[in-house]
Amino acid sequence: MAFEGLADRLQSTMQKIRGKGKVSEADVKEMMREVRLALLEADVNFKVVKEFVKKVSERAVGQEVLKSLTPGQQVIKVVKEELTNLMGGEESKIAVSNRPPTVIMMVGLQGAGKTTTTGKLANLLRKKYNRTPLLVAADIYRPAAIKQLETLGKQLDMPVFSLGDQVSPVEIAKQAIAKAKEDHHDYVLIDTAGRLHVDEALMGELKEIKELANPNEIFLVVDAMTGQDAVNVAASFNEQLGLTGVVLTKLDGDTRGGAALSIRSVTNTPIKFIGLGEKLDALESFHPERMASRILGMGDVLTLIEKAQENVDEEKAREMEKKMRTASFTLDDFLEQLGQVRNMGPLDELLKMMPGANKIKGLNNMQIDEKQITHVEAIIQSMTKEEKIHPEIITAGRRKRIAKGSGTSVPEVNRLLKQFEDMKKMMKQMTGMQQKGKKKGKKK
Ligand code: GDP
Repeated sequence: MAFEGLADRLQSTMQKIRGKGKVSEADVKEMMREVRLALLEADVNFKVVKEFVKKVSERAVGQEVLKSLTPGQQVIKVVKEELTNLMGGEESKIAVSNRPPTVIMMVGLQGAGKTTTTGKLANLLRKKYNRTPLLVAADIYRPAAIKQLETLGKQLDMPVFSLGDQVSPVEIAKQAIAKAKEDHHDYVLIDTAGRLHVDEALMGELKEIKELANPNEIFLVVDAMTGQDAVNVAASFNEQLGLTGVVLTKLDGDTRGGAALSIRSVTNTPIKFIGLGEKLDALESFHPERMASRILGMGDVLTLIEKAQENVDEEKAREMEKKMRTASFTLDDFLEQLGQVRNMGPLDELLKMMPGANKIKGLNNMQIDEKQITHVEAIIQSMTKEEKIHPEIITAGRRKRIAKGSGTSVPEVNRLLKQFEDMKKMMKQMTGMQQKGKKKGKKK
């Protein structure tokens, strides 16, 4: 998970102060010493740490906090607010030009994830905002970058504009924008050339594209796992080009969080998106408050709800709820629900967004075996229609056949059938309880 190391340390520090009925200045001092160490260990820029500790300390020893009824919780509230401020406060939105197309230049060093992010961003613009982006392959130096973008375009079923690697990026950008106007695309995403290091030739070329394309956004794509290097890269791109936002990639593998916590303060550029995996839907808008909440173990219910809204069909959910109430839930329904939940993302990531999930021992190290879920799906798919509705008719012979047909084993088939039976029993009990409750309510 993102920021696991930092989250663990901050949470155990906060735990000590949370329930205290009385908090002294010395308690705050002691806590802030630990917070400081946790942040430094997470590779947060030392100036940023110093500023942060100063701000929190000043606010935390203020009268309204220490004299309040729940001083421990008030101190944590201050830490959360200041963490949020550190990451930029409000969510920063993506620009929309009133004279379409909106042009976005994607810049960054090789390997940061620029090309992948260009594809992910196009996907997000379409899925979340109903936009029709044109992808532009202007990274003519990295071998295979053009091909890679074209492949992404195919996967997304989106057009990619390319003129090969013999035409200058400036010319490509120019023709691409003209083409986007002609074809009524509302966004143009230009995947510019990356280099291994920041150098003059690269900056010169990017400046030329900027001048010509007059972009509404210039997004720097940086690899979160490179910590303070990412911050330095951001500072130098910002100085030379004037960035409008940063996309932090590979946060899924970043246990420390130093870049995420420092970039905003050091470069005064907002983080707009975060990359959380290699797949094309693993890009999220960055919400500082939600991230602060996740780091402090308070969960991120809002993101969870949004993911559910994006991936779960409301009408179907209502139908499903009714089926559960009337205990007419079949294995087919179960299969469908499984599919919807799976669309929301890896299960262990989802679980960690639940408030208090950090208190479940071992969750951080838990690897949900997605293979097992695939097996469950295969087993159900190997049943007949009748069997899915009335699994009690499945004989020993059929269990063997189902195991064979799904490439699993008889014990696995048995386990699933048993679990399903238990689940139905539990639903019946719950509906029973609800109805009893209703009757009681009516009597009164
Ligand atoms: P570019 O040279 O900057 O265009 O980099 P690429 O787009 O080719 O990405 C480099 C590698 O990073 C690829 O293997 C991507 O799949 C991977 N990558 C990109 N974004 C993420 C992310 O958010 N999480 C993870 N785990 N991998 C990523």
